This record gives sequence, structure tokens and C-alpha cells, in this order.
Amino acid sequence: MSLPVRYPTASLKPHREESLMSGHLWIFSGALQQPPHWIGPGGLVDIKSSTGQFVARGYYNPQTDIAIRILTHDAEEVIDREFLRRRIQNAVELRQIFDPERTTTYRLIHSEGDGLPGLVVDRFSDILVAQIHTAGMERLRPLLIDALVKETSAAGILFRNESQSRRREGLKVEEPVVAAGVVPDQIAVRENGVQFSVDPWHGQKTGFFLDQRDKREALRKYARNKRVLNCFSYTGGFSVYAARSGPITRVTSVDISASAIDAARNHFALNGLDPDAHAFLVADVFDYLEEAQRNGEQFDVVVLDPPAFAKTQAARSQALKAYRRLNTLGMQVLRPGGILFTCSCSGVVGMDDLLGTLSQVARHLRRPVQLLESYTHGVDHPINLVMPETTYLKAVFCRVG
Ligand code: SAH
Repeated sequence: MSLPVRYPTASLKPHREESLMSGHLWIFSGALQQPPHWIGPGGLVDIKSSTGQFVARGYYNPQTDIAIRILTHDAEEVIDREFLRRRIQNAVELRQIFDPERTTTYRLIHSEGDGLPGLVVDRFSDILVAQIHTAGMERLRPLLIDALVKETSAAGILFRNESQSRRREGLKVEEPVVAAGVVPDQIAVRENGVQFSVDPWHGQKTGFFLDQRDKREALRKYARNKRVLNCFSYTGGFSVYAARSGPITRVTSVDISASAIDAARNHFALNGLDPDAHAFLVADVFDYLEEAQRNGEQFDVVVLDPPAFAKTQAARSQALKAYRRLNTLGMQVLRPGGILFTCSCSGVVGMDDLLGTLSQVARHLRRPVQLLESYTHGVDHPINLVMPETTYLKAVFCRVG
């Protein structure tokens, strides 16, 4: 006979349960009547309303602004291996929309968006690359590995717990570590029928930027037989899609990382494209664009996918300046009537900010801009409807007159 599981309790101040009842997954420390200091970082806790009603169950960290992240709103749901298996099953079911003939890589678990705060898991064919961002998820690590193996039949799981944000949680920044099976140096994947080879050990983040899949697909129609400039190309995701779109398409890929540019060249060859018919440059994009503008270079399509310029609210106004500068330079090398694809992956910069920046640049350069398409991260990065603040990627296609 198993005894019922009991968790320690934290009580909310009056009326602070409302957003939780509608499905929000964060509790800030200011909403708690008395912080439960006796619970260590990452410990499980039941949250009660000021009148003593059960509201939700989650994990607590006394060191972070978000004091509690919710795992369940069901008082009967125990946080164990079976709980993790149910959440993973639910995530796996959503990703069945991908046709394995065309796409073998996608985000399998997107943190709050999949009801597992603090956890990201990306699938690269039969290998999983995971990142744990919180002390609460760290405590669940042994159960999690077991649940992932059972629910995904992955041949290998690699943890890439290198993010500096772990320090805020009181966690160590780790070297990559194999949690199960065997993880090769390179993994062959397909994305919308395009071939890539991903380095799960050394690649940026988990190895590949899966949040741009739908935008890469959308780029094809604009790139056909055009001169395309891909700024911040990384391993050439957008470049390969563009180059495959038409026999006389010419693509210039620019990134500051020499190893990323090497990988981009390899990705052209992997897709039957002659890398020598295209340009690959290891350079700072700002320097490159300034020089291209001075030389009067013009492209039909410009892609701007920079790293996050602002990681905190304090860095926001500097970041907006950098986006203004980048988009100004990008438009200046775009021929009249050309297509600009521009993004921000800074969480603190909203879609309104991105569109506002574009309007300012357009006015300054006296060039009319037509907004054609706007995007976020794609179906494998679902957004909890009541947590729009977790949307980090904003991306638009525009026509610049
Ligand atoms: N568009 C890419 C992902 C871009 S990630 C894709 O679809 O895969 C951002 C990239 O910007 C990284 O590869 C990083 O090396 C590069 N980078 C960062 N700062 C840069 C700079 N100042 N100039 C050029 N590249 C830069």
C-alpha cells in the first residue's frame, strides 16, 4: 500500500491565485504571504490561496524572481516518473505533424509551452539534446532521463547545460555530458527535405536553430533566382534553402564564426550545390554591411537574424539602437522593391518594438515598407496562451520600396 504523497505548502496573498487559475505557470516572490524558506532550491511545493484552497503544485527557488514554477493544477497529480512520461507523451503527440520523410529535427519539449518549465529538448534524428535551466528541473533529472528514454526510444541523450542563466538558479555551468546511449560527433538531419549535419557537442545552443524552420521555408519563394544576402548565417540554414530555390540564385553568407561558415559550405555540398558559386564570409555583419553600402552593393533579398541584443530589461534601449542600426544598413543594401527578412530573438523586445524600429528606419531612409508576413517560433515551440511574455522570437518579411 502506498501512502499519499504530501508536499510542503506556500500560501498566496489575497487574490493572487487568479492568473494561476487561468493557466499561468509563474509565481513571483512578492505574491507569497511568507516565502517558504525551509524548502531548498528546486523543492516541490503546494500553493494555496489566502483562504487555504489548493491552487497548484510546482517547484520553488528562494534565489530567483520567479519564486515558483507550476507543474500541475491538479491536486491529485503526483510529480513522479509517470507525471514526466505523460507530459513527454503529450509533447511527442504534437510533433507527429512532422513527416519523417521530410523533417527529422524539431524541438520536442519547449519548456512552459509544453508544461515542463525549465526544460528544453531538441530532437536531431534519433538523438536528443537537452538543456535544464532551473533548480527544480535539475532535481527531476534522473526521472527525466528515464522518462525520455522510454517515451522517445532515442539512441542517445546529451545534456548541454552550459547556459550562464543556470548560475542565477544556484546551478553549476556544466560541460556537455551524455545521459544515455551514445551521441555521435555529427548527426545527419532533414528539415523540410533539406539536408543538414549537426554537431550536438559544439554547435551553438543545442546545435541548430530549429525556431527558424517555417521562416526558412517561407524564404524560398522570395529567393528564387535572386541575389540573397544572409547576415548572421550561422551554419547556413537560410542560405541553403535560398540556394536550392532556383538554378541561378546567388547567396552571400556572413557570420563572425569561422567554424559556422565552414559548416555552411559543407551544407551546400551536402545538398548538391556548388559552394564555389556562392560567397561565404567570416566577418562582423556591421562592418560587412558598411563596406557593402560604401561599395554600392545591392541585393534582392536581405536576411537579418542577429543574436539576442538584449537579455535583460536594462539592456533594452541599447538593443533597440542596435536593431535600428542593423535594419538601416540592411535596407541600404536592398534594391528598391527588394525583400527584407528581419528578426529579433530578444525576449524583452516585442513585435511592436520590431515594427516600430522598421517604421523609424523607413521614415529616415524615405523608403515605403509593406509588411508581408509575420511569425514567431513555429509549431514545435508552442506558446502557453496566457504567457505571451514567453514569446522570444519575432520575425517579419517586408517589401522595401
Ligand atoms: N540564422 C541562423 C541563426 C543565427 S544565430 C540559422 O538560421 O541557423 C546568430 C549568429 O550570429 C551566430 O552564428 C553568431 O556566430 C553570429 N554573430 C553574432 N554576432 C555577430 C556579428 N557581430 N557579426 C556576424 N555574426 C555574428
